[in-house]
Amino acid sequence: MIKTYLKKLWRWRILIIIALAIMTSIGTTVALAYSQQVVVQASVLNIRKGPGLAYDVSAQVKRGQKLTVISKRNEWYQVRISNNQVGWVASWLVKNTEVSATSYQVARVDSNNTPIYLTNSESSVKMGLLQAGKSVTILYTNGSWYQIKHNDSVAWVKRNAVHVTGTIDASAQTEPQNTQTTTQTATKSSEVVLVKTNNTHLRQQPNSSATVVANLAANTKLTYVKTVNQWYQVKTSTGQTGYVASWVVSLQNKSTNNTTTPKVASNLAESTIVLDAGHGGTDSGALSQSDYYEKTYTLQIAKVVASHLRAAGANVIMTRSSDSTMNLSSRATVSNNQNADAFISIHLDSADSHSGATGITTYYYNKNRDTKLATSLNTQLAGLPLKNRGLEFGNFEVLRDNQRPSVLLELGYINNNSDFSYIRSTAYQTEVASAIVNGLTAYFK
Ligand SMILES: [Zn+2]
Repeated sequence: MIKTYLKKLWRWRILIIIALAIMTSIGTTVALAYSQQVVVQASVLNIRKGPGLAYDVSAQVKRGQKLTVISKRNEWYQVRISNNQVGWVASWLVKNTEVSATSYQVARVDSNNTPIYLTNSESSVKMGLLQAGKSVTILYTNGSWYQIKHNDSVAWVKRNAVHVTGTIDASAQTEPQNTQTTTQTATKSSEVVLVKTNNTHLRQQPNSSATVVANLAANTKLTYVKTVNQWYQVKTSTGQTGYVASWVVSLQNKSTNNTTTPKVASNLAESTIVLDAGHGGTDSGALSQSDYYEKTYTLQIAKVVASHLRAAGANVIMTRSSDSTMNLSSRATVSNNQNADAFISIHLDSADSHSGATGITTYYYNKNRDTKLATSLNTQLAGLPLKNRGLEFGNFEVLRDNQRPSVLLELGYINNNSDFSYIRSTAYQTEVASAIVNGLTAYFK
């Protein structure tokens, strides 16, 4: 009894090791242990044929639409859109309805060699045969057919070929025993977990109803301990341990600085934009004639830009969202770690003499990497009421340390009273935001 059990356990270990070996070579595919629903956040969301921007768009869905998650691969969710349609969506464009995760029925196969099909028809392609006693998760019922989870995809089985044995609950995690995989590997221990959004819950247990032990800020780095189902056990810099949902964070390799192929968004809604409000905290930046700080207005403008970009569906990460001190290299690090599609640093210029200069300048550092982005943005900024001073090479650390397409915008002279009256106005800030949205839209085309 014990021997067979150990044998089984050993066999599972081997399987897990093999699975991990495959995963690490081709990216991580995770079949979810339970069904989750996600809500579309972008106004229009592309459904793609595979987990990446390089795949063709097979359908589009609108904001507010709910999708059932079938599996997760890297930052992408495989979802069921309708009866027979399955596709992939970028996880940062949907909201995980963690708490309202639906429960699904589990069934057992009655007899050996039960066929499963591509669609709900016996004349469609056979995807395999299931053996008696095999447990399946039912995603959807249609007439005399069940749509079931099959590997990291879906398949159909005749309803009368299986019998329902229970339900899977998101919080209870009572999915068939064998999917309770706890993995601890040498590969993953060299990885860090990066928090993507503010107020990410650190929980006592690996499920969404467990007690929240801490709220983590965006860009917090955690030490990866192990994976339990779709949760990562992590350790904070203060030594606190807990669990974070894998779909709200990203795993990164500590030693290599993101050697994965840089992604290229094909539209604004699928892009990750890092906005950098210049200066902050003890660094006030330049001063207006009446001693107003540059740091105040760079943040104000960055926030307006962020809200416009988010409304357009972009995943926006701000290097700072309050009056905090942040060094230059860590601003570029945010861009590198997030694999940003564009990094935009927002500043206000200052001339040696008051009102000695006016206008907007677009700075780039790396001609090959940044010119297209700088040109796209500058073309739109030229429509603003302040003079357009055009593109300039700028040897700035936030651009120099950046590995991603990046620009630094000087959006007017703070010590020119005429420029400053624009800079501080809501109308101008909104125009800047629209120009950036339009510039990025053109950039990704
Ligand atoms: Zn500045």
